[in-house]
Amino acid sequence: MSIKFKKIRGTRDIYGEEFEKLFFIFEKSREIFSKYGYDFILTPAFESKELFEKSTGETTDIVQKEMYVFEDLSGRKLALRPEGTPPVLRAILENNIEIPCKFAYFMNMFRYERPQKGRYREFFQLGAEAVGFKEPYIDLEVLLLAEDLLKNLGIKDYRFEINSVGCISDREKYSKYLRNILKDKINNFCENCKRRYERNPFRIIDCKIDKAKIREIKSLMDFLCDDCRRHHEILINLLEKENFKYVENPLIVRGLDYYTRTAFEIISDRLGAQDALGGGGRYDFLLKDMGGPDSPGIGFAFGVERLMLVMEDIKKKDKALIYVVYVTEKEKDEAIKWVRKIRENNLYADMEWDYRSLKSQMRKANNKGAKWVLIIGEEEIKREKVKLKNMETGEEILTDNPFKFFEK
Ligand SMILES: [Zn+2]
Ligand SMILES: [Zn+2]
Repeated sequence: MSIKFKKIRGTRDIYGEEFEKLFFIFEKSREIFSKYGYDFILTPAFESKELFEKSTGETTDIVQKEMYVFEDLSGRKLALRPEGTPPVLRAILENNIEIPCKFAYFMNMFRYERPQKGRYREFFQLGAEAVGFKEPYIDLEVLLLAEDLLKNLGIKDYRFEINSVGCISDREKYSKYLRNILKDKINNFCENCKRRYERNPFRIIDCKIDKAKIREIKSLMDFLCDDCRRHHEILINLLEKENFKYVENPLIVRGLDYYTRTAFEIISDRLGAQDALGGGGRYDFLLKDMGGPDSPGIGFAFGVERLMLVMEDIKKKDKALIYVVYVTEKEKDEAIKWVRKIRENNLYADMEWDYRSLKSQMRKANNKGAKWVLIIGEEEIKREKVKLKNMETGEEILTDNPFKFFEK
């Protein structure tokens, strides 16, 4: 045997415990999000390439280096979605959904990144978007929601790091300041930073390589206009009042162009290397840039694979298996009848579909952890009964109604 096909680098097969965890997160999140009034939405896996160029931003790493871009047979330039916010906003606008509105999503994303632990080229994100709310109260709700989710998934050892990235004019002022102060030094910075220097120098402060070279630099917080400062102060006050644990981190800029004012990351020490479980922020100009109304928005997303890495194993609460065993081929029809009958009663039943010896069937029942084995032989059929074996106690019962034992 030599298998002919292998999965593509950076992708993975999800089954067993991993699958259980993934869907546990999905089900838990549906419960939590609906409590906060968020409806789930599912958008197409591919969109026009331009959607991401114009919203995620042409200067971002995602658009420049990580998108799966292709042309379909009619020459349309498409991209597999690398993030959820642009498609969800596109859907809100295109479907004329009334703003304000709140949506959540659980979708696979695609990015051509270097595969590593907890990072795949196809991965899941669990996120939310709250559109049409201007005041910082929704920022509070979004943070509370994100934390509620973590708590309900049993995740510990995380912290919220919060910053304000100001508005566009604050960032312009800051960019000017940065260009000025870095003028003579930029040649010593990495290639990425050299590129950022011209187009959006404030992203230089996010650089992991050049971290040490920018210690003396003023933060964007020193350049906030009155409105942005007020927004941030109100939010910080609200967080204090709610006893919400957070730290302020002026270095958070997020890798996306559209963020304004509140930006945050959720860091887990269990991931190592300062890796984030997720993050988010405001995007007060994005809807308008996309041709929509002048409405603000805020959102966040968790990397589901990252959540899975830091989560404890979950306890599966499966229905107890009832395994139907038949002595010879002659009793097979009767066995099938019983399997169907048990399943119709919303219980979990199975049998050996290709006949094997009684001994081998019993072994299978044992290996699958069956709670009950229902044995059908010539004698039982004659007496219109079944033999029921309790696999925990070894007790055997002859009965015409096994269902009264299953409930226990
Ligand atoms: Zn501002
Ligand atoms: Zn750099």
